[in-house]
Amino acid sequence: MHFRPSSAPIWGNCSGSVVALNEALDRYHPRTVEGTAAHKVGETLLNALKSFGMMPPAESFHGKTCPETGLIIDDEMIEGANIYAADVQRIVAERGGELLVECPIECPQIDANNNGTLDAALVNLNAGFIVLWDYKHGHAEVSPLSLQFVNYAAGLINKYGIDGHAEQHITIELRVVQPFCYQNDGPVQSWRGKLSDLRGYTNQLAAKAYEAHNNPTLTSGAHCYHCPALWRCPAVKNHVYKLLDHAKNPPEMDEMNGEALAIELSLLETAERLAKARRSAIEDLIIERVKGGDASIPLRLESKPGRLKWDDPKTAIKLGRMLGADFDKCEPITPTQAIGKFPDLEEVIRKKATKSASLKLVKSNETIGAKAFGKTEN
Ligand code: SF4
Repeated sequence: MHFRPSSAPIWGNCSGSVVALNEALDRYHPRTVEGTAAHKVGETLLNALKSFGMMPPAESFHGKTCPETGLIIDDEMIEGANIYAADVQRIVAERGGELLVECPIECPQIDANNNGTLDAALVNLNAGFIVLWDYKHGHAEVSPLSLQFVNYAAGLINKYGIDGHAEQHITIELRVVQPFCYQNDGPVQSWRGKLSDLRGYTNQLAAKAYEAHNNPTLTSGAHCYHCPALWRCPAVKNHVYKLLDHAKNPPEMDEMNGEALAIELSLLETAERLAKARRSAIEDLIIERVKGGDASIPLRLESKPGRLKWDDPKTAIKLGRMLGADFDKCEPITPTQAIGKFPDLEEVIRKKATKSASLKLVKSNETIGAKAFGKTEN
């Protein structure tokens, strides 16, 4: 049984998921494979930074083949790697320390088979700090205070032999780089605290690993969203069907106070997200089986025409010129992408851009005001 830090947010909440997670190790997902290619570019840049104190331009990898994935490195991968490497480079220059890149870690304090590879870390125990990075190529918002980071931090505690007393004096900063998550204010979100603040979460991981060996239990919740067992898991099925039963009930006439309304909203959001994710996973499976000729499924595939796309953009621009028209749609990169490229110029860039605002419900202890007055766990 292998406990990977990258899936700690799942098995750290559901000990019954470990077998499914191990089976799903080699599943292909396009966004994951693109993320691996972007990671590889970032890794090469950071290894150069570590060895020579400087990085080659990421653009020099454009059009090359990533040997690990077979993918051609494209603009998006370059952009993601640039934002990630620039953030690491800036913090290394500001604070100094030992830079770890794609570093293997082991966490025997959680489980004998809990090991993996962290993206990057800056360790300076003399100055009393550790910075950890994780690159996410996907669009989904990921909190920097996640069990994945907790697991990597546990790996560093083991690697450097940091004891419980020292943990209280070492500051840890968790930085998640998400260049393509457009819900966030910027491409990097961070959390900072003392290493000892993570101890409760480390204990949670150890408890779930123990449970996975001795009494694996399915526990559904928001963590199921990324679980490969989502489509066949009875716990999620019950969770979603309970929501449907609830929806069929006659409306309740009793008054709900503010707290009850907030709890109801949170329950419905989780159930709605899970129902959507389960539907999408089941649809993918049906498509795969219908394509494979499974006649037991009473559904058929029909192709729908997509949008017209140029085969070769350069030829399209030439065609436009021949017709006396400009087919070249030149658009600047987004302000967030510009900040990622030039973090020192963030203030200047923000002055030249406007952020549209919409109303969003957030927990009271997570409002900007509460954060400013320290009434939050982060
Ligand atoms: S879908 Fe949820 S409950 Fe089911 S195995 Fe995965 S994490 Fe556990």
